[in-house]
Amino acid sequence: MLETRNLSSGYGAITVLWGVNLTFREGALTAIVGPNGAGKTTLLRTLTGLLPYTGDILMGGKPLKGKTWDLAAQGLVMVPEGRLVFRDMSVEENLCLGAYPERCRADLAANLERMYAFFPRLKERRHQLAGSLSGGEAQMVAMGRGLMAKPRILLIDEPSLGLAPVIVNEVFDIIRKLKADGTTIVLIEQNTRIALQVADDLHLMRSGKVILSEKAAGIDLNRLHDLYFAREG
Ligand code: ATP
Repeated sequence: MLETRNLSSGYGAITVLWGVNLTFREGALTAIVGPNGAGKTTLLRTLTGLLPYTGDILMGGKPLKGKTWDLAAQGLVMVPEGRLVFRDMSVEENLCLGAYPERCRADLAANLERMYAFFPRLKERRHQLAGSLSGGEAQMVAMGRGLMAKPRILLIDEPSLGLAPVIVNEVFDIIRKLKADGTTIVLIEQNTRIALQVADDLHLMRSGKVILSEKAAGIDLNRLHDLYFAREG
């Protein structure tokens, strides 16, 4: 469904990604893990049209073209970390912002109800200011806003960041439900244990390269940690 071939990118003269080859299968949950500075966020920024690159990004076999907003209209939707909600707007106003692609606006009410089915807590709090939410609830708003754009692929950046373990479990229960509903998900995550539990496919990145690509079911957590924490050189 989404594929990168020999993808390199970075910031001006600084190359961060070095010839990355990745395949994200339709309907699967693909996790990308890696230590700080591995290039996970740079990969997301590149996939969502925020950074220039060399190599190819293909969606459905065709080169992906356009800026971030065009890509969302085509179904490639990014969920940033939960702290990036609009604090002075209500929960529902935040959620409706996700429905800006033309194809999502016609049936806004039905779209909202479909999304609230995943996030009943957000329905209860729909008139509350987003700035007054807990970290876990704000993460749910970020994910709900992504769902409102009717994604073909949902790219979720570090959903466990800064959340207490019990809340992380709650957020991942919802991610499991989204997957069961057939959503194709790309998950960037530092928490290797939970990534391994939830993923179908897993890629480990280090220093801007992919050093392991396997089905999650075949990966042993200790082996993953050995590769994750191995010293450079
Ligand atoms: P983390 O989990 O810490 O966010 P990451 O795997 O997402 O790590 P990136 O944020 O993609 O890693 O960073 C990869 C490299 O790119 C790092 O060496 C970082 O210093 C560099 N980098 C990130 N943003 C910029 C920028 N705006 N300008 C220059 N270099 C940058």
